[in-house]
Amino acid sequence: MKTVLILGAGIGGIEIARELSINSGNEDDIQIIKIIVFEKEDKSVFSPSLPWLMVGKRETDQIYKSTKNIEASGLEVVKGEIENIDPENISVTVKNKTFKGDYMVVSLGVEQKAKFKLDDYGYNFFQLKGAEGFHEQLEKFKGGKIAVLVSSLPYKSPAAPYEAAMLIQDYITNKGLSDKTEISIYTPEKEPMEFAGEGPSSELKSLLEKKGIKYYSSHQITSASKDSLEFDNYENYNFDLLAFTPEHLCPAVIRKSSLVGKSGWIEVNELSMETAYPNVYAIGDIVELKLGSGIPLPKLGVFARSQAKIVAHNISRRIGNKEANKTFNAEGQYYIESGDGKAIPAKAHFYDPSSEKVEVNSPDNWGHIKKWWSEKYWLFKNF
Ligand SMILES: Cc1cc2nc3c(=O)[nH]c(=O)nc-3n(C[C@H](O)[C@H](O)[C@H](O)COP(=O)(O)OP(=O)(O)OC[C@H]3O[C@@H](n4cnc5c(N)ncnc54)[C@H](O)[C@@H]3O)c2cc1C
Repeated sequence: MKTVLILGAGIGGIEIARELSINSGNEDDIQIIKIIVFEKEDKSVFSPSLPWLMVGKRETDQIYKSTKNIEASGLEVVKGEIENIDPENISVTVKNKTFKGDYMVVSLGVEQKAKFKLDDYGYNFFQLKGAEGFHEQLEKFKGGKIAVLVSSLPYKSPAAPYEAAMLIQDYITNKGLSDKTEISIYTPEKEPMEFAGEGPSSELKSLLEKKGIKYYSSHQITSASKDSLEFDNYENYNFDLLAFTPEHLCPAVIRKSSLVGKSGWIEVNELSMETAYPNVYAIGDIVELKLGSGIPLPKLGVFARSQAKIVAHNISRRIGNKEANKTFNAEGQYYIESGDGKAIPAKAHFYDPSSEKVEVNSPDNWGHIKKWWSEKYWLFKNF
């Protein structure tokens, strides 16, 4: 029996563990793969629902499940922080115990850090606690300035701050506070969703404008206080309520390992997701995949999932002494909530040179329903 070590039970890790467990039995129901999943957190949060939590469209306990619940036949969960990774020997150490495998898939996501004491002055809505705290303050809000800040690049889900701002604007309008409220986005990016190209970027910008959301591009924060933000162009802006994205780093356990590449992230073969070490793969946010244009592939759950499916398929084939025959194609669909029960459907195909990298359509109810469904399906299917 071959052992597959899966590092991290987030979106990529759960998807690959599930796929492998489906492939792991033969017709006599004999397990031919042993799957061990390593995870430090008790709660497995569905991050795409965090913007809904910020504006009270979800309760906290509706968007996470217990990590333990992913255990299924042929799938074992080891709870604890991974302290060491040895890709050469395909092994990991947790609480001083070392586990050895035949294959390893690293899906540890990003490490988040609040710069400039932003945690003291606002809410990191990329985490459960921050999104929940922001909502508590929003409920008490009587008007004033709301800031949505992108504190550094890169960050996952590059539409999330725009989505959050549009949902906040919707909430404020429904509460009858729009005359007394100013919502602003501050970001170091030159344009919203730069990676998507000029068309989608300017469509999103004009939607923000139509909704009265102010957009300050090329603004890199340099310091913060309890009610103001300072930027690298020496401009200062006050706020009454702040939501921010944290700095994203490659997790420390990888930074100290030989898996980290020049980019500061794990670098892999863009088709197979295999690292420089045989039988060691990396998927999801922890990977830096440079596209032809030099821009990295955006860090999105939709890609973590499709990479997981391909790697699971190929590992199963290799275990059965067959050729690995699937490749990642950087295609995916996602939905950007825009308020009023609508979402912008966006379709990406980054490896296809013959078409636009991203196609976006006007916000519609159907997009919102699809996003709603993907949340329900994920939480139902996996736990
Ligand atoms: C607000 C928000 C909105 C989003 N919206 C969308 C969307 O609409 N569509 C979309 O496609 N994507 C969206 N995303 C992005 C999506 O959530 C991520 O791209 C996806 O979760 C990446 O999956 P992953 O497996 O790489 O990492 P993660 O899901 O972050 O999982 C990594 C796991 O590794 C664990 N871990 C880390 N270090 C260790 C360690 N040392 N030991 C043990 N365990 C460890 C972590 O606890 C975590 O569970 C959104 C993200 C946010 C924050």
